[in-house]
Amino acid sequence: MKKYGLFINGKWIDSSDGRTFETINPANGSVLARFAQATAEDVEKAIDAAQRSFSTWKGYPAPKRGEILLKAASIMRVRKDELGELVTQEMGKIIAEGLGDVQEAIDFLEYISGEGRRLFGETTPSELPNKFCMTLRQPVGVVGCITPWNFPIAVPCWKLGAALVSGNTVVYKPSSLTPLCAAILLEIFDEAGLPPGVLNMVTGPGEIVGRTIVEHKNVKAISFTGGVDTGKDVYLRAARSLKRIGLELGGKNPQIIMHDAHIDLAVEGVLFGAFGTAGQRCTATSRLIVHKSVYSIVLEKLLSKTKALKMGNPLDPLVDVGPVSCEEQKQKILNYVKIGIDEGAKLLCGGKQLSAGDYQKGFFIEPTIFETQHGLRITKEEIFGPVLVAIKVKNYEEAIKIANDVDYGLSASIYTSDINTAYRAIDDLETGITYINAPTIGAEVHLPFGGIKGTGNGTREAGTTAIEEFTELKTVFIDYSGRLQKAQILD
Ligand code: NAD
Repeated sequence: MKKYGLFINGKWIDSSDGRTFETINPANGSVLARFAQATAEDVEKAIDAAQRSFSTWKGYPAPKRGEILLKAASIMRVRKDELGELVTQEMGKIIAEGLGDVQEAIDFLEYISGEGRRLFGETTPSELPNKFCMTLRQPVGVVGCITPWNFPIAVPCWKLGAALVSGNTVVYKPSSLTPLCAAILLEIFDEAGLPPGVLNMVTGPGEIVGRTIVEHKNVKAISFTGGVDTGKDVYLRAARSLKRIGLELGGKNPQIIMHDAHIDLAVEGVLFGAFGTAGQRCTATSRLIVHKSVYSIVLEKLLSKTKALKMGNPLDPLVDVGPVSCEEQKQKILNYVKIGIDEGAKLLCGGKQLSAGDYQKGFFIEPTIFETQHGLRITKEEIFGPVLVAIKVKNYEEAIKIANDVDYGLSASIYTSDINTAYRAIDDLETGITYINAPTIGAEVHLPFGGIKGTGNGTREAGTTAIEEFTELKTVFIDYSGRLQKAQILD
């Protein structure tokens, strides 16, 4: 079995106490590879390597930094099929989505490599004669990037690409469920030509590895994607040393179907939004809010299509829904099904794990739909699995009120053929991302991505905003008058 160490200062090394852990395929329980489990001292070594290489990397012309990222993207293009399969084997999403995960990373690296030739500041006239004013962007220093398992190639590339092109050095900590994707990614960045120490990877438990990064005084910024409870812990601990902090957390995303919607299109949308990636996307549709006049027909069509979804080996291109990521995740989702039933929600389909035959060693849960009133726990808490709640409403106002009545604010969607309703919804929905006549999932890398309310602290990844998390803005005044000039003070 292949074994991977920690990647520190351009070299793969064992953890200092020799401890290791395994990653498994959630479809069949087979062990994929073994990884070094870093100690706090190992993490400090990685931070030290990043610190030492910072001035070299900062001194690279930004377009050259961009070229290395572009090279990484081109290696990924050549290896796309292999990487897509790897994502599917380690994380469990179906192969079309595994390839999509890789494509998103390629798209982003290609996009952000161009930032090496932008990194724009501003110039502006001075209020004084013979004086010039401008702003410019500088890297923050050593950045800690901590990522979840559900997009094991794309999410790290969003962070690493933006951090590196801006001139920062990085200590990267992937989820312990997907370290193999992370290790291959590191090999690719190394092959693309990153100097030693610029990108370091440490694997192991969040409470030790993640926390050491978050609390270390020499780490100047943290970019974190994960669950809300972990995110709050990270926020509090990182705040003690006044770090810059970017948090991308969970969601409880609604899709609204109005009376005038194209029903078949809307049903296709919710099917993809709710059960794509087995519901394990931060933007997954977990609430379906339907106008009473079309509720019956929507549910009838949705149930028939949901029951026809094919579950199984996610490498099989005919399979629609793969396993969830691990035993713990499976138990958490099944517990939410129980909570829903105990709270009185009506289970319309699914709700069970599949454990016979081919499913024996995997973590498979049937696509599940509940019918209920708004207000139960299953209508307000993130389940992060293939579980959808359907809620009937009497009008637009009630739909928006329910859509907004959750702690999260990541993504929302509305299906309507009325342009006025669509524009009103853009104003009214309390989310960072809003879709009209499209599912709640489907971000594009050249647009900002992020949420409001409990979904984070307002930072945005991707798009033109991607570098904001990773750069300091410096304001510069150049006085070429040859005399002392005082702003605001008359001579
Ligand atoms: P998680 O919070 O359990 O873990 C995320 C990362 O944090 C992992 O690498 C983990 O090892 C690390 N970690 C755990 N404890 C830590 C600690 N005390 N200090 C520092 N790091 C620690 O999340 P997960 O289960 O891996 O991912 C699922 C969650 O991620 C969901 O809530 C989902 O909505 C969210 N997510 C959000 C986005 C977004 O952009 N908003 C994208 C993808 C996933």
